[in-house]
Amino acid sequence: MDLLKQKILAEGRALNEHVLLVDCFLNHQVDVKLMKAVGEEFARLFADAGITRIATIESSGIAPAAMTALAMDLPLVIMKKSVSSILSEGIIQREVFSFTKNAPYLLTLKTQFVHPGDNVLLIDDFMANGEAAFGGIALLEKAGAKVGGVGTVIAKAFQPGMEKLRKAGYRVEALAAVSSMSEGRIEFED
Ligand code: 5GP
Repeated sequence: MDLLKQKILAEGRALNEHVLLVDCFLNHQVDVKLMKAVGEEFARLFADAGITRIATIESSGIAPAAMTALAMDLPLVIMKKSVSSILSEGIIQREVFSFTKNAPYLLTLKTQFVHPGDNVLLIDDFMANGEAAFGGIALLEKAGAKVGGVGTVIAKAFQPGMEKLRKAGYRVEALAAVSSMSEGRIEFED
């Protein structure tokens, strides 16, 4: 997606060879016009997949996932990273190792919001090692749903997540796949 790649080159910052900062348009401040285009692109890519529901992981997945749900006219469910006292019944959980926090958290889904027979498209902001995606998939499948696709706004293709998911049989689409980066330099796959 050229618009996204241009934005990453103009406003993204590779902190080092592993971490890309895009908090001016995706993770902290949100460019909603760009997110609208992101949602429309995911809708186009997965138009043939028979998706019935969009899922994401709080918080940075919410903006692109909400725009995808809007573009596909489907419901959106947000998996939680922390559990509050009002979220205790009918939940399933899975430990996920956070790439950015370098610590585990309990990913939580209320089963009420995903139904057996659902064909879910899981949307997230980044794909690195695939921990978040595999955790989300495990919960969605435990709830009886099928995962018909995984969409990531940015994939760091030099990290193993995308390949691991594809090898496991999941359809993965990345709108921008970074092939390598270092401080001040970002390169994309063709
Ligand atoms: P994974 O679980 O695939 O290892 O990492 C994906 C999750 O970690 C995403 O949900 C995203 O929030 C975060 N993440 C991974 N790499 C980056 C990065 O380079 N920059 C930012 N901002 N977040 C990242």
